Amino acid sequence: MAVETDRKPILLTVDDDPGVSRAVARDLRRHYGEDYRVVRTESGPQALETLRELKLRGDAVAVLLADHRMPEMSGLEFLEEAMDLFPHARRALLTAYADTDAAIEAINVVDLDHYLLKPWDPPEEKLYPVIDALIDMWLDTDAQAITRTQVVGHRWSARSFEVRDFLARNSVPYRWVSTEEPEGQRLLAAAGVDATRIPLVLTPDGRHLVEPSMSELAAEVGLSTTPAIDFYDVVIVGGGPAGLGAAVYAASEGLRTVLVEREATGGQAGQSSRIENYLGFPDGVSGAQLTDRARRQAHKFGAEILTTRDVVGLDVRPSSRAVRFDDGGEVVSHSVLLATGISYRKLDVPGADALTGLGVFYGSAATEASACGDDDVYIVGAANSAGQAAVFLSQHARQVTMLVRGDTLERSMSYYLIRQIDEIPNIDVRLNTEVIEAHGSGHLEGLTLCNNQAGTQETVRAGYLFVFIGAEPRTEWLEGVVTRDARGFVLTGPDLLRDGQRPRRGTLDRDPYYLEASVPGVFAAGDVRANSIKRVASAVVEGAMAIQLLHRYLEHR
Ligand SMILES: Cc1cc2nc3c(=O)[nH]c(=O)nc-3n(C[C@H](O)[C@H](O)[C@H](O)COP(=O)(O)OP(=O)(O)OC[C@H]3O[C@@H](n4cnc5c(N)ncnc54)[C@H](O)[C@@H]3O)c2cc1C
Repeated sequence: MAVETDRKPILLTVDDDPGVSRAVARDLRRHYGEDYRVVRTESGPQALETLRELKLRGDAVAVLLADHRMPEMSGLEFLEEAMDLFPHARRALLTAYADTDAAIEAINVVDLDHYLLKPWDPPEEKLYPVIDALIDMWLDTDAQAITRTQVVGHRWSARSFEVRDFLARNSVPYRWVSTEEPEGQRLLAAAGVDATRIPLVLTPDGRHLVEPSMSELAAEVGLSTTPAIDFYDVVIVGGGPAGLGAAVYAASEGLRTVLVEREATGGQAGQSSRIENYLGFPDGVSGAQLTDRARRQAHKFGAEILTTRDVVGLDVRPSSRAVRFDDGGEVVSHSVLLATGISYRKLDVPGADALTGLGVFYGSAATEASACGDDDVYIVGAANSAGQAAVFLSQHARQVTMLVRGDTLERSMSYYLIRQIDEIPNIDVRLNTEVIEAHGSGHLEGLTLCNNQAGTQETVRAGYLFVFIGAEPRTEWLEGVVTRDARGFVLTGPDLLRDGQRPRRGTLDRDPYYLEASVPGVFAAGDVRANSIKRVASAVVEGAMAIQLLHRYLEHR
């Protein structure tokens, strides 16, 4: 069956006699063609194969009209199997007069809605009233075509979580279908895989990916993963606020710009449920919205954005710079902007690693929130990111408990958030409390907590643990190339001067520009930069500033 872009609901016919098959399809098209697509098949197995394809595409099937006597598979056998894929489709059997008894019997066996006697002339009297009634019944079921990507998975599958998180953070709308739901089982059956091979991703044009890698998924949903040209003016590494800000300014000023992002654009900010202190958004803005706007803005000016590409090396060549990918590829440019931010620190307690993605999450409260309903939700951390997550999750979960190692929130959290938390009845704040172990097989079931003042321990039931315990730069790949401080943050501009002396930077006879690193033409902006202010606004500003300084570098090389 050819894949069409037409998403009208479907009337499917199956009849092994080509003459009859054509005639019934012709009559149906004449009367219903404007609102429905008529799909004609000539055997039960062929019709089932077609239904599987339609299922994977997310199409809606309104009516199945099957001939009773067919050699390979009878109409009844076909309808019985078809019900497993499209339980809401209404079913009619086309029979000869002699088979009327069998048809009547079938009403009970396959829950047949109707049987039609051949010939059905004139259709205005004998065919259309029956099909009209079937369509009315189907319309009542509210089963519509699915035009979005679908993800079939299980809530306690770490890979399913990664895929959902990736799609959400890249603003790809998707429909989540659990393998525990009948629809999930139908989709798995249509794709011919079992529930151990998840997640299963179905695209709106009918392709399906079983346990896809992130780069496969990125390519499938239309995100670029390979550079379009051989040489750029600037390669931006990292797609958080600093990188996106730089991409907008660089591309809008005519620089050939490519941004390379390891996971999904947005960075830490993209994971924030609500940023309330970013200029111009008096009612706050979610990280996802801010990222989506920034990404569209960067695209509008012609910046290329590559996702799921991990940069693992920086080569400094006499007249160019190159960043290397983990698969051996590279992008070459005049200059590089390091905007790799910081990543969450891992919770180093027994059980936490094994349960990551299975109830233990780092950031990313948004994707999981709706599933939290009846579970006990715990949050570790005391900074704004933890506070925002608590406020957000309190709208979805029965009870949220914040576990704070220190004896107050005031040292680490903004006043406006502390006030909000105080006023929300289902948030409990436990001070002087640390997680010392996570328990569960297959998914998180409990936590052992320790009161570091009293020295007491207790084990509590817990379905979710969201961890926000600070972060560190992941800049090991710059070792030996770019000067960093003891914690791995990239030193730039004045921070590189020792006793007023500029560092040795090849043959270059000038001090580094303000955001320039120890290698000329390599700049750093945002959280990855030593001594930067760790905020969205400052990251965006540094991204924009870096581009101005980079212009100077390009002019005076
Ligand atoms: C949950 C949360 C809530 C927050 N709320 C606020 C708030 O309300 N207000 C505020 O001002 N600040 C807030 N912050 C802080 C703010 O988000 C950060 O300061 C800001 O995102 C820093 O931007 P950045 O671009 O420097 O780095 P990041 O946002 O960390 O982005 C860096 C990006 O680089 C990518 N990357 C890293 N290494 C590589 C590599 N080798 N190859 C390719 N890509 C790579 C990462 O995947 C990431 O996407 C919050 C932070 C969090 C975590």
